[in-house]
Parts: sequence; structure tokens; C-alpha cells
Amino acid sequence: MPDQKSMRPTAIAAAASIVIVGGGLSGTLCALHILAARPDLQVRIVERNDRLGPGVAYGACSDGHLLNVPVSRLDIRTSISFEAWLTHKTSLHPDLAEALGESGGQLGDAFVPRRLFGAYLEEQIEHLIASNKLIWKRGEAIAFLDPPKRGVLLADGREIAAGAVILALGNLPPKSPVRDDSGLEDLGGFIPDPWATGALAGIQASEPILFVGTGLTMVDVALALNAQGHSGDMTATSRRGLLPTRHAFGGQWPPFLPSLLPMSPATLLRAVRRETEQALRDGVPWQRVIDAIRPFVARIWRSWSRPERRSFLRHLRPRWDVVRHRMAPRIADVIDALVTEGRLNVVSGRLARYRQAGREIAIDIVGKDGEQQTVHAHHVINCTGPRSDFGSVGTPLIVDARRRKLIHPDALGLGIETENCAVVSAGGVPSNWLFAVGSLTRPAWWEITAAPEITAQVLDLAASLTATPLETSSLADRFQDLGAGI
Ligand SMILES: Cc1cc2nc3c(=O)[nH]c(=O)nc-3n(C[C@H](O)[C@H](O)[C@H](O)COP(=O)(O)OP(=O)(O)OC[C@H]3O[C@@H](n4cnc5c(N)ncnc54)[C@H](O)[C@@H]3O)c2cc1C
Repeated sequence: MPDQKSMRPTAIAAAASIVIVGGGLSGTLCALHILAARPDLQVRIVERNDRLGPGVAYGACSDGHLLNVPVSRLDIRTSISFEAWLTHKTSLHPDLAEALGESGGQLGDAFVPRRLFGAYLEEQIEHLIASNKLIWKRGEAIAFLDPPKRGVLLADGREIAAGAVILALGNLPPKSPVRDDSGLEDLGGFIPDPWATGALAGIQASEPILFVGTGLTMVDVALALNAQGHSGDMTATSRRGLLPTRHAFGGQWPPFLPSLLPMSPATLLRAVRRETEQALRDGVPWQRVIDAIRPFVARIWRSWSRPERRSFLRHLRPRWDVVRHRMAPRIADVIDALVTEGRLNVVSGRLARYRQAGREIAIDIVGKDGEQQTVHAHHVINCTGPRSDFGSVGTPLIVDARRRKLIHPDALGLGIETENCAVVSAGGVPSNWLFAVGSLTRPAWWEITAAPEITAQVLDLAASLTATPLETSSLADRFQDLGAGI
């Protein structure tokens, strides 16, 4: 893997015009930081949905959906921080009461509703739109323009030409939990994407539900159903049946990885076990040990060979996901209560067979020991999380990018190859006009999900595109400065 410094795209001249595809957090941050550095640039953002800023994470949510990081960790380096914005918005203070009660009155430590972060992002971007510094092109980008033009074609036929294109496409809908041709999708009651508008609308309060997946998506959907008075049985299933863990307040743990770098996945696992046991003996929450790893995740990932990455994905990822993607304490309380009351049952195993049985779907789940359990549900909800296999997704823009050989889907099915945000072509060459930020760049970073990492990435790209200097030369260093989304 080339050194970060040498990968810096020095060849990129400041582009006079930029089009950003996607107006969630990643696209919004690109617009904010590029225009903060170079207000003279012509920047346009293409977004197909009717809100610019919140995206799925901070838009498609109710009051009960909380941010899974405390307020102070959501610093996106704009002129007003989220914490300061919340402090000044006195009309929102009643919404904060519960969160402040839990955090002992400390706003920086509070887990507040996600929709507030969405409103904050929306307000930041509205200023740019209102002042005509940023133009919102409403529509879906479906293809790239034919060379020598650069830019994108919208579904309604408009051509948006620009010197540089940034893909901020965000999370794709989930992949089928079974083989694509198996027919589960055709059964009445299967919900392929819980984030699709109105996906949960047809569910009656007493109907039994099966969630495929036991991670944060399942938690979100169970909370939403619970909040709308659902009383039917809920079952959640995944291979290992692991639920996300909960956040804990207090304590500190020193960085323990630097002296061990570079390290194999097995060495990492041993070190984490050792430190966790020591932390527990010292009365420090184990969560602080995981937090101490986070700033080094990008470096560790980049140092691993493909077999090491594959080994991590196969053996350690399920465990990593649940200790890393944690629930806010109030959310964990609700989930614990649902489990204790027997309203949410967690089953480990694989989906073996399913069949329509009248109005229900009957699903056979086979555990590790070979034991089979049949769950009857009116609705089977796909909570397996966003798909990332860009080599096969059928969204028009990605299909066109593959056809033009503009992208190189990675071998592990995590996203597309990039070098410092420059999209690498099928032929292995980093582009000097096509860039990407956010989850589709996971092959280069592994952890590029949470707001702090995306912020670090966007700051780097914005500096390159606007030819403005950065304080440090390494993006991995900046991940560390930001505490990488703890
Ligand atoms: C439910 C949920 C909760 C989360 N909670 C947290 C949290 O608490 N804290 C945290 O740090 N992170 C959280 N995350 C992680 C989250 O993914 C990132 O923080 C961030 O929101 C990702 O933003 P994005 O802009 O990359 O993607 P998205 O929010 O998915 O936005 C992408 C946008 O691009 C648009 N788009 C895509 N393709 C096209 C096209 N061809 N043409 C036009 N428009 C297009 C989409 O309409 C969408 O609006 C959460 C994620 C989810 C899904």
C-alpha cells in the first residue's frame, strides 16, 4: 500500500466547477468545506430526495432514535459546532431534557435524538442555498457524461457538466438475506428495505415479525415498531445472534496499540483481550479499551494484506461490529426490556428454508448445533445493513461507472478502490476528476461510517480540490486527531 504522503493528489488543480452527487452528511460536508475554502467556485449538488443534509441516518427517524455517539463527538468542523448550535437553539431545549438527565447535565456527553443533527445539517446547507453559493439540482444522477465532457446525466435528461465530480452516494439498500433467485422477495410480507419510505406502514400492531439481522438496523426498526404500539412477537436472527453492546460513561484507557504496530488480526485480538481484562480489573468500562483502538483502525487496516483483511472479516468482524457500533444507554434499556418481557426473542442460526403459510411466512432457522427452529411471521424485515458489493449492484450510476471502467470494485466486496478519495479506474489508475467520500470508500479505510471519519476525509479532499494547505499531510493522522468517531 503506498504511503499516504506520496498518494496525495498533487496533480489535481483547483477545479473551477464541482458537482457533488448525494446530499446526505458526506455530500453536505463536501459543499460546506469546499465553499468555506473557495467561495468563488461553482458548486452544485445533486440529490434525489426532498431534503438536503440529513440523509437516511438523520432524516428517516423518530424522536426515539438517538445518535449513537455523544454530542461532543459530532464535531464536523463547520463555523458553528453541533454542541454550540444546540446550546443556542433554546426552542429545542425541551427535546434535550431526557438526554441531559442521563448525562448528568453535560451536553457534550449527551445522546440526543438523531433528527436534531439532521436539522442542524439542513440549516447549515440552507444558508448556502439561500445565498446562491450552492445550487441544488433535484434529481437522480444516472450516468456520466461522454468524454471529453465531465459531469453527470440526470434521469430527466439534464446534463450537469463540471471539472470534478464527487460521489457521496451513501449507504445502498440491503442485499437479499438469501440467494437472489430464491423467491423470498416475492412472498407477501417480505420487507426488503426498512429505510424505504413507508416500509413499515402496512404492519398491524399484533402481527408477528421476524428481523433478519441483529445489529443497529434491527434495533432502529424494533424501536420504531415499539413506539408505534406494536404488541406482536418480534424475533431477530443472525448467524451468531449478537446484539449491539451499550455505551458506558466515564473512565479512560491509554492508547496501547502504537508499540505493537504493525500487527496481525490475531495479535490485535490478543492485545484487546488482555487490555479489556486489565480494564475490568481496574474498574474502567471495557468500552474505553475499544475507544482507544478507534484512532488506529485506519492504519491497522491499511497495513493488512488481503488475506489478513479477509480473515478479520470472516472471524472477527461480527464481534467487532457489536462492540464498536454501540447503543446509547436509553436505547439499550428499551431493547433490554423488550428481551426481558419476552417481546423480542433473539435466535442464532442461518435461514435454511421458508415458505408461505397462509398469511404468514414460515422460516426454518438452523443453529450451529444443527437444531432447527421454525418462526412464523407476518412480516420478514431485512435488517442486514447496507450492501456494498459494487461489482454487482444495479443502480444506474454504478452500472454506468462499471461500463465505462471508471470504478474498480474491491475484491472483498466492501466498496470501490480509491486513493486519497480519487476513484481508481478498472485499470488501476487514480482519477484526476472523479472522487468519492463516505461508505463506498471503505476498502481504503474500513471504518468510514461515522461522522468524524467522514469529516476527516472530506477536509482532506476539500483541501486538494481547492488547493488549500492542510495542517498535516496524512489523512490517517487526522483520523487520529479526531479520535475517529468514538
Ligand atoms: C440509521 C443510521 C443511523 C446512523 N447513526 C449514526 C450516528 O448516530 N452517528 C454517526 O456518526 N453515524 C451514524 N450513522 C452513519 C451514517 O452512515 C453516516 O454518519 C452518514 O450519515 C452517511 O452519510 P452519507 O451522506 O455518506 O450517506 P447517506 O445519508 O446515505 O446520503 C447519501 C445521499 O445520496 C443520495 N443519492 C445516492 N445516489 C444518488 C444519485 N444517483 N443521484 C442523486 N442522489 C443520490 C441519496 O438520496 C442520499 O440522500 C448512521 C447510519 C444509519 C443508516
